[in-house]
Amino acid sequence: MLRKTLAPLLTITFFLPLFAQQAAPNHFDGQTWWDHVKVLADDNMEGRETGSEGLRKAEAYVVEQLKKSSVQPAGKDGYYQPVKLVSREIVEADSSAELIRGGKPEPLKLGDEVIFSTRIDLASEVEAPLVLVGYGLTIPEKNYDDLAGLDLKGKVAVVLNGSPQEIPGPLASHYQTAAERWKAFRKAGIIGTIGIPNPASMDVPWSRIALNRNHPSMDLADPVFNETAGAKLSMLFNPARADLLFAGTGHSFEEFAALGKDRKPLPRFPLNVSIKTKVKLEKKEINSANIVAKLPGSDPVLKNEYVVLSAHVDHIGIGEPINGDRIYNGAMDNASGSAVLLDVADSLKKSPEKLKRSLLFVFVTAEEKGLLGSKYFAQYPTIDPKSMVADINIDMFLPIIPLKTLTIWGIDESDLGDLARGVAQSRGVAVQSDPEPQRNIFIRSDQYNFIRHGIPALAMGVSPDPNSADQKKLFKDWLTNRYHAPSDDLAQPVDLGAAAQYEEIIRSLMVTVANDPHRPEWKSDSFFRRYASASP
Ligand SMILES: [Zn+2]
Repeated sequence: MLRKTLAPLLTITFFLPLFAQQAAPNHFDGQTWWDHVKVLADDNMEGRETGSEGLRKAEAYVVEQLKKSSVQPAGKDGYYQPVKLVSREIVEADSSAELIRGGKPEPLKLGDEVIFSTRIDLASEVEAPLVLVGYGLTIPEKNYDDLAGLDLKGKVAVVLNGSPQEIPGPLASHYQTAAERWKAFRKAGIIGTIGIPNPASMDVPWSRIALNRNHPSMDLADPVFNETAGAKLSMLFNPARADLLFAGTGHSFEEFAALGKDRKPLPRFPLNVSIKTKVKLEKKEINSANIVAKLPGSDPVLKNEYVVLSAHVDHIGIGEPINGDRIYNGAMDNASGSAVLLDVADSLKKSPEKLKRSLLFVFVTAEEKGLLGSKYFAQYPTIDPKSMVADINIDMFLPIIPLKTLTIWGIDESDLGDLARGVAQSRGVAVQSDPEPQRNIFIRSDQYNFIRHGIPALAMGVSPDPNSADQKKLFKDWLTNRYHAPSDDLAQPVDLGAAAQYEEIIRSLMVTVANDPHRPEWKSDSFFRRYASASP
């Protein structure tokens, strides 16, 4: 899963359906899944960084398995769809940041106090006054605008991530994407952004973010994908030091963060400081690839339509050591999802049951760099773009406890959600909508790029029992300690039964969607429906 760089808070709203007797998995045993995970997350894959030899080896393994299962190639070059990227790495020795207060410079410590985000093409020099813009959201549908009434021309906006209570989850998530946020910022004349994570809800602690701050960022090489053109500065400010920004305003960061935690309205006003930055970037060309495979359907008409099952195969590579370990193996994120694709493709290829629609298995690259492989695939699919009827995405589904509760992200947005609910419940698994909408998970993985092209999509993950404090703590601890850390590796405890049960649900959902005479559709009141009509 893609790390969000600005953090939120928790509001829990769940509903629990009936528990039925849990059906035993009958196509999977969890062991073949774990065998694939063991290969993909082995130390010799070096954490599968986009563009690395490790990811090339992992992709070669995926292709070899697809061939073994006789699943057909559907890329551009056999199973592969080449993807060109550029990487940006900050040269910290030649970069600096300072606050200017009353004409006097106050140097900021890179790492301890601020971090440059190389997700955008940072300008070599910036000096601009700071304006606090609350959540920094502009949401026309709700007549909500954090930028209204402020003079923002040539300014850098300071933002606390999150959203006010009145904005529904998917809408809030959508408008917090870099692309949507930048559209409104640019229109207001803003030249850059400083984000302050909310300490109440950071997935990854500041110390770990700071540790790997100089890891290169990537972008797709094709300029058609540049969604932040004109942005000169993007930074993160350590919440523990954020009072530096509030000095002399009569407000404190603590007060600001407490309001954000409760999704209350946030203050917006010019701060008494400017930011001055100097940046040196090193840029390189990177070559990577998505992998695409298909199982043709049998219906003379419906076989021209595809149900997509997607998962990212890349992870974040080799980084700063934690407890002496430098390899960020990404066993759950997302060798686990890639392994499900391999198992489900193999199982359905061998199965005598005929599928009406065709199935497409897409293993994407550069998810961790900003959902780039899926962005490329959704823009330039290797099949007719109109033929993709649905995307089911798997990313870090966390089979670390028995599968009794499944979270379905996007469940209320399309009738695909109803099919998924039915499949899970028929196997005795309770279903819930996103219990933590503020974590923005619906837009934090590859399904989002399919959604943006009008294709109904969802993602699913094993979740703690909402009534079990112990299970909730287990998941919270997993995120704090293992998520994007070297300990997301093969030594961690996993529940093979939960993985098998999950695969069974994915398999069954693929079969259901492939054979449903009706093509999945967005709900009439879904915000995301707009993309279906706008899509060329
Ligand atoms: Zn991730």
